[in-house]
Amino acid sequence: MRPLLFINGTAILPDGMLENAAVLCRQGRIELVGSAKGKIPADAEVVDARGGYIAPGFVDIHVHGGAGADFMDGTIEAVRRVCVAHARHGTTTLFPTTTTGSPAQITAMLSACSEVQKSRRTEDGAHIAGVHLYGPFFAEDKVGCHSPEGRRSPTEKEYAHYFQTGLIQIATCAAELPGAEAFYRAARRRRCLITCGHSNASWQEMARAFRAGMRHVDHFWCAMSSVSSVRARLGVPMQGSMLEYVLGNPEMSTEVIADGCHLAPELLEFAWRMKSARRLCLVTDANRALDLPPGKYRFGSEQEGSWFESDGKVGWAPNGSLASSIMGMDHMVRHMKKATCVPLPDIIRMASLTPAERTGIAHETGSLEKGKRADVLILNRRLEVKKVFMAGQAYEIRR
Ligand SMILES: [Zn+2]
Ligand SMILES: [Zn+2]
Repeated sequence: MRPLLFINGTAILPDGMLENAAVLCRQGRIELVGSAKGKIPADAEVVDARGGYIAPGFVDIHVHGGAGADFMDGTIEAVRRVCVAHARHGTTTLFPTTTTGSPAQITAMLSACSEVQKSRRTEDGAHIAGVHLYGPFFAEDKVGCHSPEGRRSPTEKEYAHYFQTGLIQIATCAAELPGAEAFYRAARRRRCLITCGHSNASWQEMARAFRAGMRHVDHFWCAMSSVSSVRARLGVPMQGSMLEYVLGNPEMSTEVIADGCHLAPELLEFAWRMKSARRLCLVTDANRALDLPPGKYRFGSEQEGSWFESDGKVGWAPNGSLASSIMGMDHMVRHMKKATCVPLPDIIRMASLTPAERTGIAHETGSLEKGKRADVLILNRRLEVKKVFMAGQAYEIRR
């Protein structure tokens, strides 16, 4: 394998930009990030960024599907299809995300992900770093677009089996459910990023969850509690909610769906100002309608998932609420740039290094730094994905 040299572009680093950069990779790893004036190995294969950006591959911690497949379809073909779809949008690492469903469906999803992870070839698309166990442990009143029949409270009998696969790296549970704390402790023993989502938890419940290891909240402002929703559940005096807890605790991180349909620009910018790029991730939360024409699709499993409608911009549940995004990470990055004042290195950090840090894979990927896997993107000045490299291998972008 010849060394790979990226030139003629601005490298986007965690703390700033390096113009006219040279990024040298060898044996699938980044060896050097510096100025182009340095020594260039004569045998290097040169990749010309043509005045665009050299960026780290994106890391998506919350993603359900794409190109017609949902991870909950539970087949190897479906898992590959989603990983390929997201690679086209610059995602080089992702965490396949479960939804509500039967234990059999979740088990099938886990084994399909494990098969694809073990047998991965570059043409299979984004790396699977682990699974995000997201559904089924949602609160009944915050189940959102997911099928309510597949929702339940956590029991050790059920989740012990999922954790035993060794595949779960992110674990979500609504903090107010019976058994939530035991679930968080089990997830902490597995070193998962522990998150509270689809929840109507109060401040007190969040504080207890934090002591059990919870450190993150899924899609900020979506399917989560507010002071008024907690008041409706628990009465007066009015109490703090997930929102105040996340904003008030510097250890807590969260994520936003920056597709332009879920949250207005001021909320995206507010989340960044309050939490900083080190505690805020961009996620796609994309479903199977990514890269497909408008129409009716199922969220979750192809057989039993709930129906939603894609209008070509976002998914809509039958009751008029949003049913997650249909956009890739490149779109989220462009929207953040266009709609907010957040500087580009922070935007890229939120789509790469921060999710990698929160999930414990930052030693391996997430930034252009020496020793990390050569997951590298070439973006043009409009932030469109032109080239994708995974572990130093060129990935052929098929549309
Ligand atoms: Zn959700
Ligand atoms: Zn989701």
